[in-house]
Amino acid sequence: MGDAEAAFVTEAFTTNWIAPLGPHVDAFERELAAHVGVGHAAALSSGTAALHLALLLLGVQPGDTVFCSGLTFVGSCNPILYCGARPVFIDAEPQTWNMSPAALERALEWARREGRMPRCVVIVNLYGQSADMDALLPVCERYGVPVLEDAAESLGACYKNRSSGSFGRVGVYSFNGNKIITTSGGGMLVADDADLVARARKLATQARETARHYEHAEVGFNYRLSNVLAGIGRGQLQVLGQRVAQRRAVFERYRTALVDLPQVQWMPQPDGFYSTRWLSCFTLQVPDAATQCERILQALECHAIEARPVWKPMQLQPLFAGAPYFSHAPGVLGGDVSAHLFASGICLPSGSNLTAEQQTRVIAHLRDALKQAGVGGA
Ligand SMILES: *Cc1c(COP(=O)(O)O)cnc(C)c1O
Repeated sequence: MGDAEAAFVTEAFTTNWIAPLGPHVDAFERELAAHVGVGHAAALSSGTAALHLALLLLGVQPGDTVFCSGLTFVGSCNPILYCGARPVFIDAEPQTWNMSPAALERALEWARREGRMPRCVVIVNLYGQSADMDALLPVCERYGVPVLEDAAESLGACYKNRSSGSFGRVGVYSFNGNKIITTSGGGMLVADDADLVARARKLATQARETARHYEHAEVGFNYRLSNVLAGIGRGQLQVLGQRVAQRRAVFERYRTALVDLPQVQWMPQPDGFYSTRWLSCFTLQVPDAATQCERILQALECHAIEARPVWKPMQLQPLFAGAPYFSHAPGVLGGDVSAHLFASGICLPSGSNLTAEQQTRVIAHLRDALKQAGVGGA
């Protein structure tokens, strides 16, 4: 937490604006929309709820197809199932770890041949970094398919000086406890289209029609953020820039400390991309990477250091068994990029409040573990 959150929450208490809604909700929506340069925003109970509503706003219905990044957290695609729709997963590209334009193009060609165009494409911006929008958006436009941007992990990131999350027809952020800023739990749906956002607010409040009594013509949800939590969000938004700087400093410290180890390849950040480095991630470039990564994670765990594998791709999850999948470069060794990243990737402790001493300790144990894995000499 920063300095202002408690004051905003106290204000909610003293004015008795607890829930539902209230002035902090309206202000948080305005302030976040202004921050990311999008016309309108709706504060919701989670990023997952925001994704669910975004799919409904784009007209996703039972039996529809929705394209989605395969390398992501399950929160990106559970809402596809809530809608009764079927996901098709698109591989990542090595340069950004985000959606591969080549795989997307092949998937859309396939969909056209099959006569089953997707209702929308969910493009995920992973680990604090935007996808390559200049490559992806024209492909979607050519096929006339709208983009839902899952920027849950990338609030504060930029792509060619524009905010991550501001590129899709609809964008979504998360304020879950693990994200770069948090309301303990919460989310935001953003769009330039005022009608779309107004409709999101309606669906999020049990789809109440305008009438003195409670009138309902369609199914709705209880997805709004409370005024108390929006107060936390307003305070957190004030320290977002600081949090991004802290995360980037953590990443830079890891990178420089291990710069002598060419087998440790950090998540790339191409020119024109500005990553928040929400998580500091690397891949291990050794022949038996999966085994060695597991050993490294175990060794760190022995010292109470929590590191994790890169997201297990959705196309490899039992939940989505049988879902169509388009890899980056079929038939080429390493052409299944997300599978390769999962097998060889590690996310390190990356918290904004990680102290220099703590990080020194992590680096020392990581160096030891890498040495055990045959990376780096005595
Ligand atoms: C966290 C996350 C979500 C879900 O957000 P919640 O607020 O936890 O519901 C969706 N997509 C991605 C990529 C995420 O990391």
